[in-house]
This record gives sequence, structure tokens and C-alpha cells, in this order.
Amino acid sequence: MAASLAARIRGAIFGAAVGDALGHPTEFQSTETIRLIHGPDGVRGYALYWDGPDGRYAPFTDDTQMSECVLESLLAARAGGWDLDAAMEDLSERFVRWSREPRGGHRGPGNACLAGCRALEGGAVWREAGGPTAGGCGSVMRAWPMGLVFWRDPVEAERWAVAQSLPTHRDPIALAASAAIAVGVAWILADHPLPAVLRAMKDAAARYDQRTAGMMGRALAEAQGDAPVDDVLDRLRGWAAHEAIAAGLFLFVRFLEQPAEGLLAGANAPGDSDSLASIAGALLGAWHGIDALPPEWRADVERPADLERLAAGVIALNE
Ligand SMILES: [Mg+2]
Repeated sequence: MAASLAARIRGAIFGAAVGDALGHPTEFQSTETIRLIHGPDGVRGYALYWDGPDGRYAPFTDDTQMSECVLESLLAARAGGWDLDAAMEDLSERFVRWSREPRGGHRGPGNACLAGCRALEGGAVWREAGGPTAGGCGSVMRAWPMGLVFWRDPVEAERWAVAQSLPTHRDPIALAASAAIAVGVAWILADHPLPAVLRAMKDAAARYDQRTAGMMGRALAEAQGDAPVDDVLDRLRGWAAHEAIAAGLFLFVRFLEQPAEGLLAGANAPGDSDSLASIAGALLGAWHGIDALPPEWRADVERPADLERLAAGVIALNE
């Protein structure tokens, strides 16, 4: 039986955060280093724990910190009548606060994200604050929440996903990747069959950048064929937005029936492990629902009560 809408919303939010935490310790490690440190199969769960007042937890990174900003702005946007401009001004303020004082400290923030925040502080308007050639994965990694809120209207999901990129990333590859992930999550929640979801994601990317759509198409063929996971993830390191969405799509499709393994494959990638596992986690969590994530991963991730509060807020928006 398909998971409920509420289970899918929780699945996406926890899937993204859990993937981020799984890939946290391996973000800057090569495949060789990962295997040397964690054994021939790489990480098989959280390899990094920190101690907090309530016990130990697996810390996530900037990907989840910034996604929390997006989710908070979405929850606030209802009161503002879903005014995109006002919501993006609110989001820009949250990004600036994050850049100055991220909750729990900075966790490998992207340069383009920090540069965008400095431009915003300097008075730049949100539509123009991002670097015109900033095309790293810093905006696609936080775009999936738009699909959770606007799943009944994928055009709106896309519009908001592209908008949330502009304060930090204005390169077409960042807009294409942000559009694709949000549309993908929206189509998954609307219960479309897999081929339709994949087509909608590629079409969304193509509206901003053909090359991104082309990379997604190749990764999709590789996921459905027998291309070795290591080879694909060695090519698609994910530091750039188009590589990140292509690799995320690869993980989603190749590991559709083994979602936990999909998150681990992202975490064990030689490139931007935390972001790839987080993007895959959002898609796989939305597809399967929260129960696809091992209970210990959900319990041990950083600030699970905050993630549950955000999920409850998004679920309430849908009622
Ligand atoms: Mg990160």
C-alpha cells in the first residue's frame, strides 16, 4: 500500500537530513580513503557522532541547516498569502542569520551561499544577490521542500524552487537543478508513476539548461542499465548543481527498491557525499515514506524533534 501523504512528507524531510548526516564524515574523502577508514563496504550507518546535552547525535551539515530556512519560510508564507516576493525576502533574512550564526555552528558552508548572504547584507535584492555564474550544489540541495508544499501545482513548485536559488546561485545549471528536484518531489507526492516523474524532472531542468537535462538523461539510462555505481558517482561528483541532480537522480532510480542502500551509496561517493545522499534521501523518502528509513537513523539524527515540528507544519499546510 502506498504511504500516506503525511508519511511521505516526513520521509522527505527525514530522508534529506539523514542522508546529509550519513555523508557528513565522508564529504571530502576519496573512495580509497573512505574504504581505508570505514572498511571495504564504506560507511554502513552514522560514522560521526557528537555529544550533546540530550546524549549523542549524528550531526547534519549546511544542506539541512539551509533546508530548515526554506521550510521555515514556507510555513510563514501562508500567513503572507503565498506572496513569493515577501517569502523570498523572509528567506533571505533567514539565510543571512544562518551565515552569521548557524545553529550548532558552521558545517562546511558553500562559498556561493556565503557570498550571496554578504551581497544581501550589502543591500542586494534577493533576485540579484546570487553570483551570475554561481552553479554549485548549494541551492539544489535545499530546493526539495518546495515540492512538499506545492505538490498540487508543480508549476508553482518550480517557480518557488527557482526563486529560492537566486539569492545565492543564479547560474542556469543551479536553476535547472533546483526546478528538477522540486518538480520531482511534487510529482512523487501526487502519486504519478515513475516514468512520468522522471520525465517531469528532465523537462523542468530543460526549461533552464539543456546540458543539465542531458546529464540527467544519461544518468537515468545508467541507473536503468548496468553501469557500475562507483563509475557513475566518480564522474558525477556533485560539487556542481547539474552533477548533483544527475547523481541524485541516479541514486533514486538505481536504489528505488533499497532506499537505505541508496542513501549509503551517496554517503560513500567520492564527491559531495552529504549533498548527494541528502538529495537522494529527499526523493527516496518522498517515494516510500518515513518507514523506509531505519528507525535508529531517524532517532539518532541531529534535532529530530525540530524536523518533526517542520514536518507537522508542512502536513498542516496540506490539510
Ligand atoms: Mg553539506
